[in-house]
Amino acid sequence: MTYVSLQTANPQNYPYQIRIAHLYGDLMNTYGDNGNILMLKYVSEKLGAAATFEIVSLDDPFHEEDYDIVFFGGGQDYEQSIVSKDLPLKRDGIDRFIHDKEGVVLAICGGFQLLGQYYIEASGRRIEGIGVMGHYTLNQENNRFIGDIKIHNEEFNETYYGFENHQGRTFLADDEKPLGKIVYGNGNNETKNGEGVHYHNVYGSYFHGPILSRNANLAYRMVTTALKQKYPDSQFASFEDILSLEASQEFSDTKSKAEFSN
Ligand code: GLN
Repeated sequence: MTYVSLQTANPQNYPYQIRIAHLYGDLMNTYGDNGNILMLKYVSEKLGAAATFEIVSLDDPFHEEDYDIVFFGGGQDYEQSIVSKDLPLKRDGIDRFIHDKEGVVLAICGGFQLLGQYYIEASGRRIEGIGVMGHYTLNQENNRFIGDIKIHNEEFNETYYGFENHQGRTFLADDEKPLGKIVYGNGNNETKNGEGVHYHNVYGSYFHGPILSRNANLAYRMVTTALKQKYPDSQFASFEDILSLEASQEFSDTKSKAEFSN
């Protein structure tokens, strides 16, 4: 059964509500990927939205109309093989979420791999993906791509930083663009042509770190995209107003003053 794992306190004080499905949140969380959840919550609240996170895991159906954002974290090969067997149950809902609803998805590492066609484990065994996107992932012998990575997205003119740790080598389909071009690091595969994927409103990446905590610009893009879909007539605060270094400083100053006066 799906269950709420985290929720904004006093949601009635916020003008907007946002619901986030955390796919297999109890199984897929390598290298602190759940930090993305905390960042989604933080950015939502700064934009005036109370956030509710629900774990949607084994045997739970996925109803696309219930959610505004989907987060699918990374996993080890063993967890991925378990998740792969359950994914057909959610396939059509996720397909409609991505293609009909144009919903916002963040998929990291194992989650990114499983949205595609298939993944070849380190052992050489094939694990089926959900096949809602065209990429596929091959293995490599006795090697992993590990280390700091920096990429640039030309469409948004944004730079993203992360730490990659994966054995899989992902190859994108013709209708998929990488999330960014490699400045340094490995990225999707040995061709070093790009990292991750940006497809409709799906952001896939090998970045841990977690990606959203290290890249507030991407977190802002994802949350505002989802909020504008839900509340098309509303205006939301700019990135500079709420997430720039100056804004964060102002926020912590006010917070500590309030804490001292209590
Ligand atoms: N097991 C996958 C790989 O090694 C994904 C790892 C991860 O999610 N961190 O490529």
